[in-house]
Amino acid sequence: MPRFADIVLPLAQPAYTFAVPEGMALAEGQAVAVQFGPRKFLTGIVWRIHDRRPDFKTIKPIRRVLYGAPLLTAPRRALWEWVASYYMCSVGEVMRCALPALMKPSGDSEEELAADEFRPRTERYVALAPELCDEERFHALCERLERRAPKQYAALLEVAAAGDGVRIATGEVARRLLHADGEVLRTLERKGFVTIAERERTVERGGSSFLLPELSAAQRRALDALRAQFDGGRPTALLHGVTGSGKTEIYIHLAAEVLARGGDVLLLLPEIALTAQLIARMERIFGSRVTAYHSKLTARRRTETYLRLTRSQGGELVVGVRSSIFLPLDRLQLVIVDEEHDASYKQSDPAPRYNARDCAVVMARLLGCRTLLGSATPSLETWLNAHSGKYGLATLAERYGDARPPAILLSDTLRAAKRGERRGHFNKLLLDRIGGTLDRGGQTMLFQNRRGFAPYVSCTECGWTARCPACNVTLTYHKARRQLECHYCGHTEAVPAACPACKVAEPVPMGFGTEKIAEQIAELFPEARVARLDRDSATSERAFSATVADFAERRTDILVGTQMIAKGFDFGGVSLVGVLNADNLLNNPDFRAAERAFQLLTQVAGRAGRREVPGEVVIQTSDPGNRVIRQVVAGDYEAMACAELAERQAFFYPPYARLVALTLRHRDPELLRRGAGELARRLRERFGRRVLGPIAPPVDRIRGEWLAGLLLKIESGASTARARGLLGEELRRFAAEAAFKSITVVCDVDPQ
Ligand code: ADP
Ligand code: ZN
Ligand code: ZN
Repeated sequence: MPRFADIVLPLAQPAYTFAVPEGMALAEGQAVAVQFGPRKFLTGIVWRIHDRRPDFKTIKPIRRVLYGAPLLTAPRRALWEWVASYYMCSVGEVMRCALPALMKPSGDSEEELAADEFRPRTERYVALAPELCDEERFHALCERLERRAPKQYAALLEVAAAGDGVRIATGEVARRLLHADGEVLRTLERKGFVTIAERERTVERGGSSFLLPELSAAQRRALDALRAQFDGGRPTALLHGVTGSGKTEIYIHLAAEVLARGGDVLLLLPEIALTAQLIARMERIFGSRVTAYHSKLTARRRTETYLRLTRSQGGELVVGVRSSIFLPLDRLQLVIVDEEHDASYKQSDPAPRYNARDCAVVMARLLGCRTLLGSATPSLETWLNAHSGKYGLATLAERYGDARPPAILLSDTLRAAKRGERRGHFNKLLLDRIGGTLDRGGQTMLFQNRRGFAPYVSCTECGWTARCPACNVTLTYHKARRQLECHYCGHTEAVPAACPACKVAEPVPMGFGTEKIAEQIAELFPEARVARLDRDSATSERAFSATVADFAERRTDILVGTQMIAKGFDFGGVSLVGVLNADNLLNNPDFRAAERAFQLLTQVAGRAGRREVPGEVVIQTSDPGNRVIRQVVAGDYEAMACAELAERQAFFYPPYARLVALTLRHRDPELLRRGAGELARRLRERFGRRVLGPIAPPVDRIRGEWLAGLLLKIESGASTARARGLLGEELRRFAAEAAFKSITVVCDVDPQ
């Protein structure tokens, strides 16, 4: 009987059906090479094998199988399908994101695809010839060689001593090397005394001590509570622990149990920024079982990791960022999502626009694992789930050991300005504290939510500001690079010498970013060693790690940074944290602004005083009476949560509603306006008052295209699957219409 296979291709399209050639052994989840269209060869994943002939004439055959064994198990395919269905994209788009780039060879011909295929790096290994494993023969040979060819003799002894399979140096830095040079080894090979073979490099296992930290009484109680809830049948739990309470120690204990049983553990972190410190901490305990996975690794490394894991026997601990949820950990028993509230778990562009935290919760159901969400400042969604009994919950209310929560001081910028107690962007209070900290040999972190030197450049005469020609935003001034940059599209230009509008004055930088703060602080404290950490300064993993290591080992005194420095870092020497300007966090139009501000300020503050030396935090603001600021000072997460939840309920926002944000894009603003109006009208016919918009987003032009937004709010209890179905139908109809099909519509489920 002829067989067919539905193949998922890395496209925004449904699966395509191909014929399975006679005699081809094929399994679901395998990667294959297929011809797509007249002149394109792509990698696809076998989704389903069946015998139903599709009703088109020419059904192309699958060309060949790639990688041998299947890449995806059935539960993993179920996860991809869930992601596609929930986030309203194709399984092919999930494939695009889930598989490392080098694993999807393609080309205009079959030869091109073959040339594009990933080839694992092989290395040459040398071993004693099998005959010589006989001791008598070996000794006889040694006696002969010792006098006549001492070099060969030495090399032979070395190979014998190293056991089977010693890697030969190949120019690269090698871990175990022979002293003997290649020439001598080749002679030995010619004589049949040793064998040399090309082999894929294997990761050497070992080095794990499993020496776990001793837990405090509070930590032990939390760990026991989590275990009991997991065993009691609740697959997801929240660990709500204040900053510095030792959540990581609890992760370590839970991970150790799973690893000892041969299961896999996935530890998710919101940003690569944090991985280095945590990986080092994990490696001290779990040795080479720890694998890092993030975007700063080379494409080759990511692919090697993926392929290695498909062949793994279990006992893996992967520490990675959001895309690691797609790694083939077939014995996954525990997923830990650290800093679960963090918005970086959400991929906003391109599709799949998934939230790895929410996927981790779904994975507990689909893969039969357990999911632990950890945070000092949980998202309100998670907090509500934990308090309504849907998730398990354990709390750590105090910092570990003798560390106390930091004291938080507010410093009123308006008052300081009036009294003349302000220098640059610093109030006297903060400057005094920095001076005192330097005198005591302590370290300071300064937080400013903006990178660059100044947010914009403006003419003091006529008010002209430098704007991006393609986006409706001002350009950011970067002093070190002496240029203006668009943070949306990357456009750069030089600062004009004279104002292009009035030609009278010279445009000057206004406002301030991290670069300017670092410059000012270096002027105010010339003896201090100042470093900066943000997306501009952390150009590579190495540059980033160097800055972090310098600060951790106290080679720098003051670290200035964006949110990159706010999260998760555990620097023992930091006794002072300064927030330059809390106002722009609070004055955000987003409905999550208050929650976000509380989270960010609490996280930043949490970097201070993590050991014996008490920590102090100075927050500069023009609005010291602000409710959220007060709650941060009091460390009162519950008060913030209750106040915010009441508002969310009243105005029908998450967690009481689910949002789907639609963004329409087109170069022609008039066509866009008509299209958005028409789509809104049609959606209202289906969803009534659940539809908001069209709205012009805060930045309404990007890369030359105009933007319009629509928002769909669905009751939390209602069937979101049904709503997504109806919405999908309307969008397909809209996209098929001649008048509107040139409009791009992007669908973002649960936008952040
Ligand atoms: P969190 O992630 O909750 O902010 P960490 O896990 O980073 O806190 O812990 C804060 C500091 O306290 C770390 O330096 C950590 O090594 C230390 N610590 C916490 N618990 C223990 C413990 N049980 N034994 C030894 N050190 C601990
Ligand atoms: Zn001007
Ligand atoms: Zn731009």
